[in-house]
Order: sequence, then C-alpha cells, then structure tokens
Amino acid sequence: MMTAVTNFEAKPLPKSTRALREDVQTFLRSYKPKLTEIQKAKSWMGFDREFSKALAKKGFIGLTVPKKFGGQGKDGFSRFTVIEELLLNGMPVGAHWIADRQSAPLILKYGTEEQKSFYLPKICSADAFFCIGMSEPNSGSDLASVRTRATKIDGGWSLSGQKIWTTNAHLCDFMIILVRTSGTAEDRHEGLSQFIVDLKQPGIDIRKIRDLTGDHHFNEVFFNEVFLPDNCLVGKEGAGWQQVISELAFERSGPERIYSSITLFDAWIQHSRDTALTSDAPVLAGKILTELITLRAMSLSVVAKIEEGEEPVIESAIVKDLGTELEQMIPHALAENLATNPESVVSQELLSALAYGMQISPTYSLRGGTREILRGMIARGLGLR
Ligand SMILES: Cc1cc2nc3c(=O)[nH]c(=O)nc-3n(C[C@H](O)[C@H](O)[C@H](O)COP(=O)(O)OP(=O)(O)OC[C@H]3O[C@@H](n4cnc5c(N)ncnc54)[C@H](O)[C@@H]3O)c2cc1C
Repeated sequence: MMTAVTNFEAKPLPKSTRALREDVQTFLRSYKPKLTEIQKAKSWMGFDREFSKALAKKGFIGLTVPKKFGGQGKDGFSRFTVIEELLLNGMPVGAHWIADRQSAPLILKYGTEEQKSFYLPKICSADAFFCIGMSEPNSGSDLASVRTRATKIDGGWSLSGQKIWTTNAHLCDFMIILVRTSGTAEDRHEGLSQFIVDLKQPGIDIRKIRDLTGDHHFNEVFFNEVFLPDNCLVGKEGAGWQQVISELAFERSGPERIYSSITLFDAWIQHSRDTALTSDAPVLAGKILTELITLRAMSLSVVAKIEEGEEPVIESAIVKDLGTELEQMIPHALAENLATNPESVVSQELLSALAYGMQISPTYSLRGGTREILRGMIARGLGLR
C-alpha cells in the first residue's frame, strides 16, 4: 500500500535537457507572430501542419524514436522538455500530437521492420498524422466491448463498423484502430487486434461532430468493407488488448495532463500584475503554483520509471486524475477571482479565453479515460478491488 506513496520519487530533469530547452525557446521566439489567448488556450486542439513541419525540421518531433527511423534517439526527459515548452507557450500541437505521443511508440514496440521503416520517418518529418480509433457509440469506458470487426479475406482483411469521438480524423492520414478479429463482444479481451488504416481508402465515411464550444475536431468514422492489406496489422492478431493498454499508458503518462489551463493561468497572473494584485490573487496564485509544481514532479517521476523500463500504469493514472482536476479547477477559480474584483478592467481577450476554458474543461477528464475508470484502476492497484 505504501508503495503508492513512495513510488513517486522526485527526479529533477537531467542537466542535459537545459540546452534543448533553450533551443526550443529560441525557435518559438523566432517562429510565430504572437498567438491570441484563445489560440493558446486551444493548444491541444490547434491543428497547424506548417507549425508541425517547422518543429520536425528542428528535430522536435519523434525525440525518442531511434535515429535510424528518422528520430532523435533521445530519452523521455528530452521529450518532456520539448512538450513542456510547447504547452507553456500554448503552441498548436494538434497535428503531430497523437502520432508523436502514442502511434510512433506503439509502432516502435509492436510494428514489423517494414512498418517501422515506412511510418516512423514520416511521423518524425510531420508528413504523416495519426488519429485514434478506439471509442465506439457503446464502447467508451468499456473499451473491450468494441464491435467494429475485421474479417480475414484473401491478402488482407475486410473492415466494417463505426468509431466515434475520433479527434481530427478529417485532417489525419492514418488511424490506428482497435477492432474485433475473432469471437464476439462477450469475449472481452480475447480476439481484439490493432490495424493501421489509411484514411484515403474507399469505403470510409468521416462525419463531423461539433463540440460544446462550436468547434469541429471530433468525428464519427464509418467503415464499409474497407480493404486492409495484411501488412496493416500491428503486432499479433488477437493481442490487441495488451497492446492498447500499453498505448494508453503512453497516452496518459506525459506532461500533457497537467498543462491544459497553463496559458490562462499565465495571462491571469499578467493581468493581476498589471492591475496591482488584490489581496486574494496571491493566495490563489500560490495554491495553483504549488499544486502544479507537485504534479510536475510526479509526472517527471513517471517519465523516470518509463526510462528505467517499468510500466507505471497506476502512477500515470494518479497523475492524470489529479492533473485534470487541477486543469479543470483553474479557469473557474480565475473567473471567480476576477468577479470578486469588479473594479479591475479585464481584457476581452482574457475573458474570451477564460470562457472557452470553462466550456471545454469538462473534456479534460473524459479524453484518454474518464476519472471513474482511472480511480477504478488506482483502487485495483491498492488491492481494493
Ligand atoms: C476531447 C476528447 C477527445 C477524444 N478523442 C478521442 C479519440 O481521438 N479517439 C477515441 O477513440 N476516443 C476519443 N475520445 C473518447 C473518450 O475516450 C471517451 O469519451 C471516454 O473513454 C468515455 O467514453 P464514453 O464517452 O463512451 O462515456 P461512457 O463510457 O459512457 O461513460 C459515461 C460516464 O459513466 C462513467 N462510467 C462508465 N463506466 C463506469 C464504471 N464501470 N464505473 C463508474 N463509472 C463509470 C464514466 O466515467 C463517465 O463519467 C475523446 C473524448 C474527448 C472528450
């Protein structure tokens, strides 16, 4: 039980990452005209091919991918440093985000040499963008019940079914999809497999869904007898469940899960400085900052465990659960603070960004696995279930 506490050992970022951080900062200063606060608040959702291309040219995508596959062959701490700088500056990371975070590591771990040689260099040069085909209308938290099916045919597989909530499917080149290749939904973890689907194949219909803020990033994706050549299967047929769990660990473990509201916090601090701090603003700033610093240390300790070859699935779930709670609290707490100081004039830009943050923040604890599911995993890790 106490390992739940002692597993989080503070690990400072290695000194070697300092030069890399300076490189990213220099690049970001030179790259773009100033982003608006709302563009920064949309960092994860910002899909900007040109920006991703420019990052790739500097070697800031595929940091942990070996050099022979077009990556930088660096460690997880280097990736942490780059991601942290991008998020602190609210950069539009959406285009390469999923491929860099989870598709490349998945292909590296389970893909054939042919798949590694074909996909990884394209991911690292920002020439191939990926989306995630896990959720279905009745299979979200209960992912093992997916019904989309690939049936073996001559030379490949025939894919039919439906995925939902697929972020940026309409803009991406490929989807890594979890499907049933044998048995029925009742077989749960048995008979699932993963494939790489080229989204330009005939038989694929991508339909947009608008979110609460009016933006289009989600989609429904329908597959009607789509032909998948044999070389699209990732890993082993029937081993999809174990593979997807490992993919979700990549999805949940990074610094991504603590910084969604960071640029709002930064803009509010600036506003409070400009308008002279009110008595309650420093208290709120201190509370948010101490939580962020603690979470950052926990997130870094997860990176260290991954670097040591461990699979810190429970630790990742703890960081994501606590991280998203803070990310969700920030816009509301800042808005409340501004409301208690009606005499200070708040810029329209900050108000719009805060309104956006308040509307979008419920998604933080849904994407990548809901709070209840993560807490179930944590309870299991503590031997309570
Ligand atoms: C911004 C965003 C981006 C996303 N992008 C993608 C994507 O690119 N690809 C993809 O495949 N999916 C994506 N998703 C979908 C996401 O993974 C699912 O929304 C999530 O897994 C929850 O599934 P669901 O929506 O079906 O809700 P449900 O599973 O129906 O859950 C509804 C509620 O019931 C609770 N609940 C469910 N089961 C239990 C249980 N056993 N015990 C206690 N409570 C429970 C949940 O915690 C939740 O609060 C995205 C979601 C969001 C919000």
